Amino acid sequence: MYEGAIQDLIDELGRLPGVGPKSAQRIAFHVLSADPADVNRLATALRKVKDLVRFCTTCFNVAESEQCRVCRDTRRSNEVLCVVEEPKDVVAIERTGEFRGRYHVLGGAINPLEGIGPDNLKIRELLIRLGTGEVRELILATDPNTEGEATATYLALLIKPMGIAVTRLASGLPVGGDLEYADEITLGRAFEGRRAV
Ligand SMILES: [Zn+2]
Repeated sequence: MYEGAIQDLIDELGRLPGVGPKSAQRIAFHVLSADPADVNRLATALRKVKDLVRFCTTCFNVAESEQCRVCRDTRRSNEVLCVVEEPKDVVAIERTGEFRGRYHVLGGAINPLEGIGPDNLKIRELLIRLGTGEVRELILATDPNTEGEATATYLALLIKPMGIAVTRLASGLPVGGDLEYADEITLGRAFEGRRAV
């Protein structure tokens, strides 16, 4: 539709999740008319996220060093481990202020239709962590949708025989939804009301 650089930018923006063609065009023209310093800051932020951010070697949360902030925090309990799908879920749970244990980020959920099985997730790494015997409770905080439930069921069957208490977040979370979209109060209550599975 346009020529050269502006169309390239519209095309690239349009490939981002949640950005439709109209939004891509609006953002591209906003960038075109924006202050050069603002655009440079955006460009730097985009580059830095790829250069600096990596995954925590312990829990697979996003990190800027070997371990993420949660794993480095010595005041947190090693006895409770909360399993989530994505780093954004760690942020959602941290916002509730209800949890003082550690996390394990699976990197997704079991989804046979998309060819994602247990081997594609950080489940082997989870079992190695549990092997140290320090964890007493494992909280399954995968999303309350089909894939999240399937993943929770799979993990519960795998881990309960290890003698670790396995719990799942209480209902009250919007079914079919994404953990990150739950408000702090709902998610906080779901945390308090978690039940054994
Ligand atoms: Zn970590």
